[in-house]
Amino acid sequence: MKEIKKVRELTKSNILGKILFPSTELKKRVSELGNQITDDYKGREILLVSILRGGIIFLSDLIKEIDLPLSIDFMSISTYGINDESSGVVRITKDLEDSIEGKDLIIVEDIIDTGLTISYLLRNLKSRYPDSISICTLLNREVRRIVDIDIKYVGFSIGEKYIVGYGLDYKQKFRNLESIYELNIDTVKRDIESLKNNSNF
Ligand code: 5GP
Repeated sequence: MKEIKKVRELTKSNILGKILFPSTELKKRVSELGNQITDDYKGREILLVSILRGGIIFLSDLIKEIDLPLSIDFMSISTYGINDESSGVVRITKDLEDSIEGKDLIIVEDIIDTGLTISYLLRNLKSRYPDSISICTLLNREVRRIVDIDIKYVGFSIGEKYIVGYGLDYKQKFRNLESIYELNIDTVKRDIESLKNNSNF
């Protein structure tokens, strides 16, 4: 009910486009991924690493669907780019709390787009001697991929449209929507144009 009211207002203000994945579909797919991870890692203990901030809703739903001993840890990074385009230049702004040496790690991501961010993280985490690392992403946008990445668990494949909701933001907003929506591209373009006009792009 609350979701309907929130969305009606945002649609009116011309920001949100159509629903790409309703909350029911997300719940079902997250449960399938949890079951698959449970089967694949049977008899082992796992560590799930989430990248702040977009991946936290997915992580918190996913761990409830995994029937294994597990722990979680978080990293925060900032990427340098223009107009939200990833550049591959990544700085860790919050590191993991614990050592990952000898652990079976799963990196839990909201979306893998160009792949630049995750490839930096992989290089960084591999140098800390975990036993294994695999990647679990809710969304995979292969059309914009620059770096080849081996992704073990994918929730959904998506096209080029920028999306928000279920943890994913536009200018830090919309993370609290229960479903995933396309962003209305005309509104965003106007926003980017006004950003360009007001700065030294
Ligand atoms: P990559 O380095 O793979 O290009 O970028 C991955 C990051 O870019 C994601 O973790 C996410 O923060 C951001 N990102 C890429 N595409 C989208 C999108 O469609 N919507 C939102 N909200 N973030 C995106």
